[in-house]
Amino acid sequence: MDKILDGKKVAELKSQRLKDFVKNLIDQKKQPHFCVINIGDNAASKVYIRAKTRMAEKIGILQENIQLPKTVSEDEVVALIKKLNADPEINGVMVQLPAPDHINVKRLMDTIDPEKDVDCLTPTNIGRLWEGDHFVEPATAAGIISLLEEYDIDLTGKKAVIIGRSNIVGKPLAALLLEKNASVSILHSKTDNLSDYTRQADLLVAAVGQPELVKADMVKPGAIVIDVGINRIDNHLVGDVAFDEVKEVANLITPVPGGVGPLTVESLMEQVVKLAKRQDERR
Ligand code: NAD
Repeated sequence: MDKILDGKKVAELKSQRLKDFVKNLIDQKKQPHFCVINIGDNAASKVYIRAKTRMAEKIGILQENIQLPKTVSEDEVVALIKKLNADPEINGVMVQLPAPDHINVKRLMDTIDPEKDVDCLTPTNIGRLWEGDHFVEPATAAGIISLLEEYDIDLTGKKAVIIGRSNIVGKPLAALLLEKNASVSILHSKTDNLSDYTRQADLLVAAVGQPELVKADMVKPGAIVIDVGINRIDNHLVGDVAFDEVKEVANLITPVPGGVGPLTVESLMEQVVKLAKRQDERR
């Protein structure tokens, strides 16, 4: 049996569905429109923004990229976010991270209108996520959930272990997996002996940023393994999972590239469309 969870294929399928939906909105003169604010010249950010732009164009969403110099003041970025919040033509706002060190990202997140919070990083939307009553979800976590759904994987009563406790991946994914009735553990850099937990996992998610941290002997035979990591080594990408050896033990596994990455970008577009639809309904 094919062990690969094909994120690229699922993202392709979902983007086609979304494109059909957006076509309807465009016909009604309601094309979803969002802004990506990028501060400075981080090379990886440029790659990610290009990937988003390509996906937005393919689906029919209007993505406006606003490039700010790395010397821009925090007050200026806050003023820009407020202006975008107030603009009824704009359905979503996000700040591409990382931002330069002199910028307090938390203040930027606090400024974004929760109704336009594409990344689901405002305190209001994080709270709603943990309440299980949310209208937007963080793209990577939502992409992973949609992958599991497309493969009809039922997590009820299963042990899910996430390595990584970041606000953009590990923590929100834990909230969404709880909604799927999994029993969730979050591991991190201070966890003593990862294997004690990972070997119990029916679903193991690695979101760390350490090349091939997860080895075969850390994985329960038959587990589902999701690799979020993107690590560039000698001009090629590797994940946080030692794919070749773990594939022999796992039942299903995502590759890097072609796993979680494409799903994240597609899922981000879904969030934009959800926000646009919600704003339209509330007008
Ligand atoms: P982060 O640096 O914010 O968080 C990393 C987490 O890993 C931290 O919680 C830390 O405690 C934990 N950690 C670090 N070393 C560890 C160790 N040795 N053992 C256990 N835990 C350890 O990273 P992030 O933003 O969550 O991203 C994680 C990885 O996922 C990165 O490689 C990033 O590029 C990638 N990523 C991919 C996508 C995608 O779409 N595929 C999206 C977001 C992030």
